[in-house]
Amino acid sequence: MTDKVKIEKSDAEWRSLLSPELYRIARERGTERPWSHLYNSEKRDGTYYCAACSAPLFTADAKYDSGSGWPSFFRPLDGAVGETIDRSHGMVRVEAHCASCGAHLGHIFPDGPNPTGQRYCMNGTSLQFEPGT
Ligand SMILES: [Zn+2]
Repeated sequence: MTDKVKIEKSDAEWRSLLSPELYRIARERGTERPWSHLYNSEKRDGTYYCAACSAPLFTADAKYDSGSGWPSFFRPLDGAVGETIDRSHGMVRVEAHCASCGAHLGHIFPDGPNPTGQRYCMNGTSLQFEPGT
């Protein structure tokens, strides 16, 4: 596994392609307010794609209600989500990003449910949900 992303664009290109809120989160590692995104309560079957590059990231059957206020998943699709160590804000956390374009998605915490024990705590803004199976 290499950390090199497949889709590379300049900062100016991303800025022109993404909404200001998505740019802030995906490219500047921002965070949306908890309980602010409608995907937090989304329960339909379907697939969650990267909002920046449309790569599939999660299926709805890996989503669960973590009570955190952010859409949460216990498992991404194979190879879809990359991880880096994030030492910002005086904490050591695992940062999650789209393996295809590098867009920041959220963080991964080791307090998720079975079978993985992982909580992929995602910004709904970084995701694009398509209902269906
Ligand atoms: Zn992406």
